[in-house]
Amino acid sequence: MELLDCDVVVVGAGPAGSLAARSAAEQGVEVLILEEHPEVGLPVYCAEALSLQGIEECGVDPKPPFVCQEITKARVFAPDMNYVDLVSSEWKGFTLNRDMFDRSMSNNAVEAGAKLMTSTTVTGVIREGKSVVGVFASNESGSLEVKAKVVIGADGHSSIIRRTAGFRRWFPDVGICAQFRLGGLNLDYPEINEFYVGSNIAPGGYAWVFPKSSDVANVGLGVRRIHKAPPIVHLRKWVSSDPRFRDAEVLLTNGGICPASGQLDRIVDDGVMLTGDAAGQLIPVTGAGVHSGAASGKIAGEVAAKAAEEGDVSSKRLSEYVERFDKSWGKRIRDSRKMVEMLDKFSDDDLNALARIVTSEDILNLANGTAVSRTLAKLVTKAPGDIIRLMSAYILG
Ligand SMILES: Cc1cc2nc3c(=O)[nH]c(=O)nc-3n(C[C@H](O)[C@H](O)[C@H](O)COP(=O)(O)OP(=O)(O)OC[C@H]3O[C@@H](n4cnc5c(N)ncnc54)[C@H](O)[C@@H]3O)c2cc1C
Repeated sequence: MELLDCDVVVVGAGPAGSLAARSAAEQGVEVLILEEHPEVGLPVYCAEALSLQGIEECGVDPKPPFVCQEITKARVFAPDMNYVDLVSSEWKGFTLNRDMFDRSMSNNAVEAGAKLMTSTTVTGVIREGKSVVGVFASNESGSLEVKAKVVIGADGHSSIIRRTAGFRRWFPDVGICAQFRLGGLNLDYPEINEFYVGSNIAPGGYAWVFPKSSDVANVGLGVRRIHKAPPIVHLRKWVSSDPRFRDAEVLLTNGGICPASGQLDRIVDDGVMLTGDAAGQLIPVTGAGVHSGAASGKIAGEVAAKAAEEGDVSSKRLSEYVERFDKSWGKRIRDSRKMVEMLDKFSDDDLNALARIVTSEDILNLANGTAVSRTLAKLVTKAPGDIIRLMSAYILG
């Protein structure tokens, strides 16, 4: 058994882990990142959409090869195929090359002084009494025991750190996704991201077309607990109904899980913290988690490093991370979760009616969890009776 020692060990080199490692290393402590895959960023389980603001948070240059398509508009289709265009002079986004994007973040962490070990799978936490004091791992050379003052679990939705450190084992609600990367297309508007809602297409979730260029796009969907068939079945049916995709070539098939229930109640304990998907920090309506995960990782890494240097890695000391993340993202994530619960009660007809009264700004607010109450209060003044009833429950609750 090989024995290693460091101040902060980060499990997982996704956005949350690489940003945590980078910010901890910038504080001057010894940081080790353990990543189970041989290459950071692969395989890709992502639709690869990110706002410019999100890219800046990640510290990556919004230029090729990290991004491949600028996005200036989102188009949301109601079940009856009427749509609302979301445009704002202050907003732009990109479709990423997520593998290279993730590698850029981990390179930044290494440049800041963190050490990266790939092909190394963490199998659980090491405890001394009540405290977590490191992790067990294995790679082709054998077993490892890594002692650390703080363990950061940035190991995604199925986090082994979460499950072995005594946090909640799983999320109360998740979206299950399937996606094709389609090639050989001839898209008229590659600068538009398309979203489709409705029980026929994606029960409890939505479908998307996120172009990577005019001839390649990520085309996928996510479903939630009310679905009756696996997402790939819904996806095949939906893709075959769109003439644009009839002669497309499937370049890649992937998918994955998006925790949709919001941040877990407890994400720090003595010597251990969870960040990103491991902590459930995605925006529940959209399932987007790169921006919030990176923002969380940054704070987690900084607090971990300072706590390690001070010699106090108690749950109380590490809670500074939870409080700071909550100030910037907590309300957005909670409000977005409430939106999911409200939209679950909408029938397709309700969604069609809603599409006729919402503006671009309303949808952005509702989807991102910003100014939700104000937006709903404004919408009830124009909404038909049934929708007022559904929205009031949210406003009053
Ligand atoms: C189909 C799909 C589409 C999505 N599309 C978007 C999108 O367009 N935009 C967006 O913002 N978000 C999207 N998301 C969500 C986004 O991908 C995640 O929120 C984001 O990747 C979370 O980052 P993270 O660092 O927390 O976790 P991850 O990116 O999941 O990184 C976790 C890392 O930990 C490693 N790891 C796991 N277990 C171990 C272990 N035991 N030992 C060592 N290493 C381990 C993994 O290999 C991985 O590298 C999508 C998700 C899915 C499933």
